[in-house]
Amino acid sequence: MRRSDPEGTIFQIQRWSVNDGDGIRSTVFFKGCPLRCQWCANPESWRHEVEILFFADRCTGCGRCAAVCSTGASRIADGQVCFEREQCSACGACTSVCPAGAKNAMGKAVSVADVLKTIKRDAVFYRESGGGVTFSGGEPFAQPSFLRQLVSACHENGIATAVETSGFFDLAAVQDILEMIDCVFVDIKHMDEAQHKMLTGVGNRTILANIAALSQWHPRVIVRVPLIRGINDSEENFRTLCAFLKAETRVSGVELLPYHDYGQAKYEAVGAGFHTFSAPDDETIARFQQLLESQGIPVLDFK
Ligand code: SF4
Ligand code: SF4
Repeated sequence: MRRSDPEGTIFQIQRWSVNDGDGIRSTVFFKGCPLRCQWCANPESWRHEVEILFFADRCTGCGRCAAVCSTGASRIADGQVCFEREQCSACGACTSVCPAGAKNAMGKAVSVADVLKTIKRDAVFYRESGGGVTFSGGEPFAQPSFLRQLVSACHENGIATAVETSGFFDLAAVQDILEMIDCVFVDIKHMDEAQHKMLTGVGNRTILANIAALSQWHPRVIVRVPLIRGINDSEENFRTLCAFLKAETRVSGVELLPYHDYGQAKYEAVGAGFHTFSAPDDETIARFQQLLESQGIPVLDFK
């Protein structure tokens, strides 16, 4: 790595992705997010730092982790293996001796050159399919220097780019990055400020203001709405959403994302509590689609 090559923290590069934009894509997952959405499918993306995920249901109790742990975070107590997350330095020693895959290191520091080397392997498929690279997370704009260099490198190599963002960023500080990105997917999780804050940890004012301003000049801004039963699937929330999109934005369309609980096992593994949610029924989803379309707002589907 060159000294000037910025380093960032990611937790995955998913090749052959088809749900994160047009065509065949590589999705780069940034680690670290300022939000804590209660239904998040990627709780391992929340902390910026590298961390150890512990899947207790896979643990056989062999004790090998305790034998190599120098901090006492993995230890045997009363014949049981314990993991004290607060004492863990994320050195990774236990992950390399665990025979059951119960300990996993999540996240790694990488350079722009490292990431570029991986994503360039599929450049021909991006070109053939109209795909490219999607920056996701976590929140990509929480690592602006790293993102800026990555997007710029893709640009120089003729690779199309998209970003999946919470919209919670300082627009003036990252405008130059957004100008280079071909497609912006941005979430609206709830139209009510207090509800948004309670459910995600931050209010929605900055996010809505950013969507309104960004969509005036960016050619492709797509709003994503996670649909969660009893949380944001009320008629009132959707009518407020439609009114906002119509009056204050020029977005290209909306994608509705019904809730799923695929991330459940990871909550315990990162030491976080899991909230139980469910998706609205098909009838409700169809009603919201019709409502959006009746307002002239295209409903898109990248699944
Ligand atoms: S990552 Fe290192 S400090 Fe943490 S539990 Fe494993 S061996 Fe111990
Ligand atoms: S090494 Fe893995 S399987 Fe063995 S006790 Fe530790 S976490 Fe469990």
